[in-house]
Amino acid sequence: MTSQVVSYQRRRIATGEVIDTRPLDLPARELRTVAVWFTLSPGSLARAGVEAADVPGALHAAEHAAIGLLPLMATCDRWDIGGLSTALHPDTEAPTVFVYDGHPGGAGFAERAYRTAAAWLRATRDAIAECGCETGCPSCVQSPKCGNGNNPLAKSEAVQVLDVVLTNLPAGPADAATAATADGKVDPTAAGTADGEIDPACGAGHAGALPRQDHRTARRSTAGSGPPD
Ligand SMILES: [Zn+2]
Ligand SMILES: [Zn+2]
Repeated sequence: MTSQVVSYQRRRIATGEVIDTRPLDLPARELRTVAVWFTLSPGSLARAGVEAADVPGALHAAEHAAIGLLPLMATCDRWDIGGLSTALHPDTEAPTVFVYDGHPGGAGFAERAYRTAAAWLRATRDAIAECGCETGCPSCVQSPKCGNGNNPLAKSEAVQVLDVVLTNLPAGPADAATAATADGKVDPTAAGTADGEIDPACGAGHAGALPRQDHRTARRSTAGSGPPD
């Protein structure tokens, strides 16, 4: 995972109002860690009613909520976990959501997420769907450490994304990993990305497939501790 702080915002202390955004010239920082990710096909998203323009916001919102809910499954805090979502990732060649351990080498959270994927993403989906807000709030899809200023976020479309994933995940939370491995679906570069495929990766075994943060101009600072999402 490579991240780079490219700018910072100045805000009024009393109101939080943004005064301006100023560029920064800082070196990229690299984190070798462990991630879990899921991919969807553009066709499955279209069939679920997610318009192309809403895909980035839908994935981003699902990613934030998934990070927020992972502490239900793993003994971690959302500040231990980072994330990245994109409508087209160069390694998976598909719309992808990554969730990664914020500690060098990983700390077991991503593996736990993978093993409990169905329960984890079900809880994530329900937390978004049952939140009473209109377009997303800190209780569901907004993140206090988002590297993109919580933009874009598409709340209702995030539910549709997670419905597609859950519909296509192997049944049985603990068996998901075994089933996926047995079917040979863990390789994200395999032809014909399956809908709702979910993959673990380790830095040693899948170094070439580790997520990269490429859209530097879009990425803004998360100066606090904890990996950005
Ligand atoms: Zn909400
Ligand atoms: Zn974010």
